[in-house]
Amino acid sequence: MQIEKHHREIWAYIDLRNDYLFKSSLKVLGQAHALAQSAQKKAGAIIIGARDPSDPGQPRTEPIPIEMAAEQCRECGADTVYLAEYVAAEPVLPHVCGQILIHAIEQHPPMLLLFALTDLGRELAGRLSGAFDAGVIAKCLDIRIVDHKIVATCPSGEGKYLAEIEFVESGSALKLATVVTATLPEPRRTSSTSAPVQIDLKALQLEDRIKFVSHERDRALHQQLENAEIVVAGGAGLGDAQGFALARELAAMLGGELGATRPPVLQHWTEEERLIGQTGKSVQPNLLFSIGTSGATQYTSGISQAKTVIAINRDPHAPIFNYADVGIVADAKQFLTTLLAKLKQTLMRDVADTIRHSDTNDRQRGVGAKIKQLRQTKQWTLETLAQATGKSPEFIQQVEADAMTPSVAFLLSLARVFDLAPDAFLHQQQKEQLSDERTKAYLTRTQNYSYQTLTPEAKGEHLQAFMVEIEPKQAHKPVAYKHEGEEFILVEEGDLELTLGEKTHLLKPGESIHFNAETPHKLKSRSNTKTRCVVVLYTP
Ligand SMILES: Cc1cc2nc3c(=O)[nH]c(=O)nc-3n(C[C@H](O)[C@H](O)[C@H](O)COP(=O)(O)OP(=O)(O)OC[C@H]3O[C@@H](n4cnc5c(N)ncnc54)[C@H](O)[C@@H]3O)c2cc1C
Repeated sequence: MQIEKHHREIWAYIDLRNDYLFKSSLKVLGQAHALAQSAQKKAGAIIIGARDPSDPGQPRTEPIPIEMAAEQCRECGADTVYLAEYVAAEPVLPHVCGQILIHAIEQHPPMLLLFALTDLGRELAGRLSGAFDAGVIAKCLDIRIVDHKIVATCPSGEGKYLAEIEFVESGSALKLATVVTATLPEPRRTSSTSAPVQIDLKALQLEDRIKFVSHERDRALHQQLENAEIVVAGGAGLGDAQGFALARELAAMLGGELGATRPPVLQHWTEEERLIGQTGKSVQPNLLFSIGTSGATQYTSGISQAKTVIAINRDPHAPIFNYADVGIVADAKQFLTTLLAKLKQTLMRDVADTIRHSDTNDRQRGVGAKIKQLRQTKQWTLETLAQATGKSPEFIQQVEADAMTPSVAFLLSLARVFDLAPDAFLHQQQKEQLSDERTKAYLTRTQNYSYQTLTPEAKGEHLQAFMVEIEPKQAHKPVAYKHEGEEFILVEEGDLELTLGEKTHLLKPGESIHFNAETPHKLKSRSNTKTRCVVVLYTP
């Protein structure tokens, strides 16, 4: 479509949410400036900022002050800076931002509005596209004016091809595009002295159907992939988001950073910031795992500084093997599942060993950090691990801070939640200690119950079954009992009173119950005759 003469400007949306996004927006502004020059138009920067209601006269200092942003936009090619400021306690939200942009465009219509390819940029382009029935060219690697037309180069076919895209002839006067910023040059310094233009928002009734609750910084995103010592890069061969999560787990396990080829980014298995290669980041780790990646040159150009490359691919002829120091022909998911299990086992054994060798005066330093590392491989919060192990978040926090010694029982529950066979990390001495505890517990039972082992061959094993007989109520005193694991009771004869913690249950013949054996429990016969029940114990 021909560029309309009455729409004189090419705008860049300036994102003030953090320094990285602001710098990316300035690169987009540089692109808008270059385009404007070749089309003999003007470049504009549109900035939306919320002023704090407690002190609306003062500029917000966090994250990027509006005045400072406006100044830098003028230095980076904006002929005009448009400021849309409103008073709100919360940060600028996408739906509010969309309404303000619509209002600004109606007042000063640009011919083209560029956004950095970010979550917000995508959403705003979509909202404006709906509002103005305007076309969006997404993920532009390059955008230029050819024969008075806007032409963009964009990846296509999962990044295997480059497509040239134009807007349709009959489309709206407004054009929209999201731009990949990784390959854009830093904006050239120019100077414009024009005063910012304030967008008049008085007539705008902001819709408030969405309420801001809280926000948390994603620390992982702000770590430095480019400077990481260990990088785990996942590719299309990981198959799906669950497969890709295994690469994320390995990166956390090794204390490294996660990277990706283009397909996982396009599939939204990970963020754009994790992309390695020609249009992404260049990494220089000592150790790079490249898992399920074919070895396309656009990707390998970003790993050329890696010292040791370990590649995993099921195709022995994959080009990545020409590049790797160590090549492993294997299914990526199977390989990662096995490697992760081994690494977790080693880490857990390490934890168990440290606890075993330390005396009470010398708190085992580093154990907490390892437990934290295990938790982080799952991307679990303190609360999630607390819930999974039946402890409080404060308890987990103290363990991770090495402020208390975790018990063997706690390690066993950790093993359970991390899918590890408990035996795998216990030493013989610890196993014997546990076996002793089990034997002692059974002995206590025999003093009060008459029982018959239904599984004599399983003595000392995890699963055991007993036929328990309890004397009629007058003759029998209840037995208090509590142990690691789970318990199942099926009443054969008589009435059984089971007290579980604070709660009492009455079980009739044929009725059964299954419970966490760590809850203190008491068994008592309520019949005038003997009560007989099958008791199955699972001890880890
Ligand atoms: C201009 C341009 C710029 C680009 N910039 C970048 C860039 O910056 N970064 C980037 O990464 N790409 C970029 N690309 C895309 C690039 O060309 C490749 O398409 C991309 O790198 C391929 O990613 P991949 O290796 O993950 O996927 P694929 O090429 O699809 O390879 C997947 C690999 O996984 C293997 N596999 C499949 N299943 C399994 C399994 N179960 N177990 C083990 N292995 C398995 C396959 O054998 C295959 O080798 C760009 C392309 C263009 C045109």
